[in-house]
Amino acid sequence: MDLKQIISHAKEYGFIYPSSEIYDGLAATYDYGPLGVELKNNIKNYWWKSMVHMHQNIVGLDAAIFMHPKTWKASGHVDAFNDPLIDNKDSKKRYRADVLIEDYISKIETKINKELAKAQKRFGESFDPQKYRKENTRVAGYIEKIESINSRMNTALSSGQLDDLKKLIEELGIACPVSGSKNWTEVRQFNLMFSTQLGNIAGDDGVLYLRPETAQGIFVNFLNVQKSSRAKIPFGIAQIGKAFRNEIIARQFIFRMREFEQMEMQFFVRPGDEMQWYDYWKNTRMHWHQALGTPIDHLRYHDHENLAHYANAAVDIQYRFPFGFKELEGIHSRTDFDLSQHQELSGKKLRYFDPEINESYVPYVIETSIGVDRMFLALLSEYLTEEEVPDTQEGATRTVFKIHPALAPVKCAVMPLLKNKPDLIAKAKALFDDLRLDFNCQYDEKDAIGRRYRRQDAIGTPFCVTIDFDSLEDQQVTVRERDALTQDRISIEQVASYIDQRVQLSTLLKK
Ligand code: ATP
Repeated sequence: MDLKQIISHAKEYGFIYPSSEIYDGLAATYDYGPLGVELKNNIKNYWWKSMVHMHQNIVGLDAAIFMHPKTWKASGHVDAFNDPLIDNKDSKKRYRADVLIEDYISKIETKINKELAKAQKRFGESFDPQKYRKENTRVAGYIEKIESINSRMNTALSSGQLDDLKKLIEELGIACPVSGSKNWTEVRQFNLMFSTQLGNIAGDDGVLYLRPETAQGIFVNFLNVQKSSRAKIPFGIAQIGKAFRNEIIARQFIFRMREFEQMEMQFFVRPGDEMQWYDYWKNTRMHWHQALGTPIDHLRYHDHENLAHYANAAVDIQYRFPFGFKELEGIHSRTDFDLSQHQELSGKKLRYFDPEINESYVPYVIETSIGVDRMFLALLSEYLTEEEVPDTQEGATRTVFKIHPALAPVKCAVMPLLKNKPDLIAKAKALFDDLRLDFNCQYDEKDAIGRRYRRQDAIGTPFCVTIDFDSLEDQQVTVRERDALTQDRISIEQVASYIDQRVQLSTLLKK
């Protein structure tokens, strides 16, 4: 499905609404509806269980959103959490300079892909795209151009030479997508942190920031957690919570929001061991995504060329969103940057005495950081599909959300075959009351059974249980499975355990 279809499906079925919609919405802010909140909770639960409960040496934390303002000075966010911003003087639209350049590069990539597709048609089976990329002068020229633009952009970004970014935009002839004009302002740095004011302190001393990442709540609590849980290095602290960024361009639905939720884990290691743990977390996190059934070629690693001020290695796990491969999760080797900075600004020691080597040191940190909302969008993008129904009894096409049963917002729907038969209804309701003790279930008696199945398919319910006239006699029910459309006839007493075996998070965690 394309992004437009995903957005309208998400709204129609109560997954996601634009925020404050009756006032025409607030840009880049969204509200999660009845099914959205269930799915979001399931994503968070899957992450929490696999990170905290499945690792003996990882514990959880829930730090406050507000933190002492010095936190953000120490972390570098006050001085360096900036995006390069440029305005178009005619349309008055504001852009990220690096994104304008990246969009330009994407257009060249589209040209390369078109050339490759043409050549593939011409040469058929014997076509070797890698060879063609090197040997075809037009394609090789495009690739060279991309490399040169990337290199100039990265140098300008890392050295803070904003006028070079402007020059690059002018040389490439990039026009404003809205006005078509090339009348640009200078490039300026724009800090992405939202700030607010403490009630009882006037002026700069009372400025508070809304946290732009959850990580710092973990760093400032490093010693509290280490001591109170008697943790030995290597160990990790995990946290799920809201983060806020005043993104300049907020688009692509819940991919880039101004208020979003992160699931972050900071893993504290002995200095020198960080690359070994970096590789461990890189693999472990990729595995977490693949366990859901997401195909290998829809996920990829992308090494950072332009390292953040705190990192000595960084990689993104990118997912193939409807608008291309984009970051879903980041894995960063953050060195001892954060703890050292907090030590310096707070004047408090943040060291660890390692009994195994009889030495005390500031630990190094490997971070894994993923946005709940981006994960949500990845799941909608991957598993929401339209397909022909092989069994014609059920109608020609259907929209089905083929999400892993363990994450499905509703696990099971209970349906009496007909709605005006009190015996069927009584039996169905009794089963529903029993099942909802264990799972999130729906009871549905409206419309023909085929339409009821369609509704459950569209929200990803893995099992529909139908009570028919035979059920009254033989105490058996039909369980229909969402993806294969198989129908199992099982005893009513077995329904709970039948579903339980198939929807538990443990089916995912065991992978
Ligand atoms: P991007 O380059 O896309 O802006 P980033 O590199 O700034 O992302 P990180 O600071 O590494 O992102 O944040 C970790 C994770 O938090 C990201 O992988 C993403 O899943 C999520 N995230 C970051 N910014 C946003 C946002 N504005 N809206 C939704 N999720 C976000």
